[in-house]
Amino acid sequence: MRGRNLADFEIKDLRATVENREILKGISLGISRGQVHAVMGPNGSGKSTLSNTLMGHPGYQVTGGEVHFKGRNLLELEPDERARLGVYLAFQYPTVVPGVTMANFLRTALNAKRGYDGKDKSKAITPREFRELLKEPMRTLRMDDSFLSRYINDGFSGGEKKRAEILQMAVLKPEIAILDETDSGLDIDSIRFVAEAINEMRGPDLGVLIITHYSRILEFIKPDFVHVLVHGQIVQSGGPEVAAQLEKSGYSEWGEPVPAVAGEEVT
Ligand code: ADP
Ligand code: MG
Repeated sequence: MRGRNLADFEIKDLRATVENREILKGISLGISRGQVHAVMGPNGSGKSTLSNTLMGHPGYQVTGGEVHFKGRNLLELEPDERARLGVYLAFQYPTVVPGVTMANFLRTALNAKRGYDGKDKSKAITPREFRELLKEPMRTLRMDDSFLSRYINDGFSGGEKKRAEILQMAVLKPEIAILDETDSGLDIDSIRFVAEAINEMRGPDLGVLIITHYSRILEFIKPDFVHVLVHGQIVQSGGPEVAAQLEKSGYSEWGEPVPAVAGEEVT
């Protein structure tokens, strides 16, 4: 990584602790728009700590490093400012929000991004535009209209929650998207739909960081770069061949046990 040009989204020597225990031990990673990076690592290696720290989750303390994006140090911004700057995180464990429908939530999030504060009506999305915007991604994700009138994640299956995260991404059109184990808990058909939706969003304006335990989703979304995260450090970086190699040898090279059954979810 040394000597390369600065990326659009540049993570430099990021260190973070959770409850006074150091989990991230100096992560450096550059993601440019147009690129898809995958971070693979065993359970407990710090993958969610990385995504939550990047998004500004209050439970994670940054103890060192910087994250540069659009001339700002992301780490100095509030989570909502990070989101408005164009960073999106699809959570590993999306939360249930009873009483707020998906439609209301998506519209509100979108309006906030457009700078609509309830006053200047010309900035608000019209119902027609809103429907148009949702049509394609909902079709790809195989979500029917009834989703929109349901409360956020309330009674959603694991797969529905993950698809709802990707629908949000499709609506908000971030420039940097961090997907934390979006593939875990999905059956093989859902992985395909989710991958298809992400591939449709892929393009020169979007940088993606796919965080995953297994290489399976990478068969559908071809990454440009693959990084291996073990014990809070990136121990290897390369192209898609790194994922293929991990599929064979697991993380044993770094002292991590190989899962008993390859491809079996461990959660
Ligand atoms: P991964 O996503 O790679 O499975 P995590 O980042 O979730 O790993 O966790 C890394 C380590 O940090 C684990 O040892 C985990 O127990 C610890 N950890 C993460 N979040 C918390 C938390 N909120 N409270 C206590 N420990 C945590
Ligand atoms: Mg995790």
